[in-house]
Amino acid sequence: MKPFWEVKSLSEMTTEEWELLCDGCGKCCLNKLIDDETEELFYTNVACKLLSKKDCHCMHYSNRFQFVPQCTAITNDNIAQLTWLPDSCAYRRLHAGRGLASWHPLVSGDKKLMHRKGISVKGKIVSEAKVRDVEDYIVVWPLLDIE
Ligand code: SF4
Ligand code: SF4
Repeated sequence: MKPFWEVKSLSEMTTEEWELLCDGCGKCCLNKLIDDETEELFYTNVACKLLSKKDCHCMHYSNRFQFVPQCTAITNDNIAQLTWLPDSCAYRRLHAGRGLASWHPLVSGDKKLMHRKGISVKGKIVSEAKVRDVEDYIVVWPLLDIE
């Protein structure tokens, strides 16, 4: 039997299935900058104050909007507009018809594989609580997609 992400569209998924799709890379929780003139997107390695450096998960996911009102909930209704999400993001991949990558925890069965392959933010971030000027922390690695 094929797994749910291969037989269901994003709009058909249950809330539980939707949440399972997140690979936990943490890249969407990095501070991003947009050039006023060119509208070019730049990622930084400055992470939201709620992102755990240890496991790359949000430390208050269920009530995160109390602490970070500007956090974005990714839904089937807004996924097409969230073009700032990295190409490796499971939601973007499925929305684009690319399927999940072999390193995705649901496919590999190994939650640490993506860390070993350098897909996640693990070992590469600083907390926004410790940074004064985010512009000094622009990086390109969040935009890379290895598969
Ligand atoms: S970028 Fe996508 S897959 Fe990665 S943590 Fe964010 S929502 Fe999950
Ligand atoms: S509040 Fe949580 S989910 Fe939202 S950006 Fe921060 S760490 Fe990520």
